[in-house]
Amino acid sequence: MTDRFEAVLITRDEEKNQSAAFVEMTEDELMEGDVTVAVEATTVNYKDGLAITGKAPVVRRFPMIPGIDFAGTVTRSTHADWKEGDKVILNGWGVGETHYGAYAAKARVSGDWLVPLPEGMSPLQAMAVGTAGYTAMLCVMALERHGITPDRGSVIVTGAAGGVGSVAIALLAGLGYEVAASTGRPSEEAYLKDLGASEIIPREELSGPARPVGKERWAGGIDAVGSHTLANVLSMTCYGGAVAACGLAQGMDLPASVAPFILRGVSLLGIDSVMAPKALRLEAWRRIAGELDHAKLAALSSTIVFRDVLDAAENIVAGRVRGRLVVEM
Ligand code: NDP
Repeated sequence: MTDRFEAVLITRDEEKNQSAAFVEMTEDELMEGDVTVAVEATTVNYKDGLAITGKAPVVRRFPMIPGIDFAGTVTRSTHADWKEGDKVILNGWGVGETHYGAYAAKARVSGDWLVPLPEGMSPLQAMAVGTAGYTAMLCVMALERHGITPDRGSVIVTGAAGGVGSVAIALLAGLGYEVAASTGRPSEEAYLKDLGASEIIPREELSGPARPVGKERWAGGIDAVGSHTLANVLSMTCYGGAVAACGLAQGMDLPASVAPFILRGVSLLGIDSVMAPKALRLEAWRRIAGELDHAKLAALSSTIVFRDVLDAAENIVAGRVRGRLVVEM
């Protein structure tokens, strides 16, 4: 196993300054795991941007191959569930943070972390969805479990033109929800409406300090932004509504009051994709394969080559990426 392949490696010097560069590696240098996968597609999520730029402490072991998700084909396995030739998807589990990740032609991981590529989906399509899109589905499922059905009223999606936001809009619209899309990019109005949004809410309406409660506007919300934005969304959620919180693009803080919870019975639903149990992952991917409109998926994603991931990482953290970025290996 001495075939050399390209990988991105993040290293840290003695002053704790980190840098990312392309290197050549062999399979022998990969970390422990019972399944080896030929990576066919990966993506650039916001978290990958944070890892590569070092803007947040995503990487917790150095050196590290970043990349939190991939789709590909099993080339070797000693795990009972997987054999050579199986098509698989990986999201999270610390891959790209504490375990060598997706930005390499090969990945060696625990077979427990993998889910099968759904029938009828290519590795590129699965990564057009990626961790952001699978998280959007986890948010939709959480709202449904809370009884937020389309007849209850509209659902607001924040960070709408980003990865989580774009997939969330397409999924919600496909399920018959009326969707309000909050964006800081008014130029993306046509894009968001094509995905299924019926109303555009300017980012500034939600990004300043929130009142304890405001006018009741939405039955539910999917928030990828956190901070004042989440506080405002909560304050404007209708009686008995719920907001699924998955992101922190504005900030990790939550400058809110308890008023929406104790006066309106609003619920805040926390969404984590990284350690989500396997049953939930399988359900999310089954529903994505069956329910996400392929034409909308194509419209919200663009494909880049592996060599461009470092530039893409800068762009996503700067808020310059629309929808999802797929990396073809
Ligand atoms: P993107 O960068 O694709 O989307 C984020 C969007 O947030 C941007 O497109 C922009 O939308 C909006 N935004 C960016 N900066 C700000 C700001 N300062 N104030 C308000 N809005 C802002 O990222 P992803 O979709 O990949 O991820 C979104 C968030 O979800 C991230 O915080 C990510 O870490 C988190 N996440 C969490 C997961 C979990 O398991 N909980 C899994 C996946 C993602 P617009 O231009 O429309 O305003």
